[in-house]
Amino acid sequence: MRERIQSRSDFTDYCSLCGIALTNFEVTADIQGNLILFDEKTTGSIQMSLCADCKNKVLEIALGGLNAAIQRRLNIDNAPHSHTKVKRTKKVTFKDDEGDGGAAPKI
Ligand SMILES: [Zn+2]
Repeated sequence: MRERIQSRSDFTDYCSLCGIALTNFEVTADIQGNLILFDEKTTGSIQMSLCADCKNKVLEIALGGLNAAIQRRLNIDNAPHSHTKVKRTKKVTFKDDEGDGGAAPKI
């Protein structure tokens, strides 16, 4: 639960994922590294601060790995009224239902 803030000067940062302003005590993770923007063909460095909720979400996604990510993608792609950017005309299934993440999609 977030504390009620008394002054704008209490905010020193913001969450790089959800965008909420944070105090020093609310920053729960800091990510620093190289940034590669493939679509813009450019590189640089990046620093991201995360709030507690986004840190937990990032860890949950990371711990699920590729298999969980594939399942989330299948759930979205096969939803009756999917609004994903990837438009598919046929239901996506996999030949290999072992969930190893290496199977090629059968469309
Ligand atoms: Zn956040």
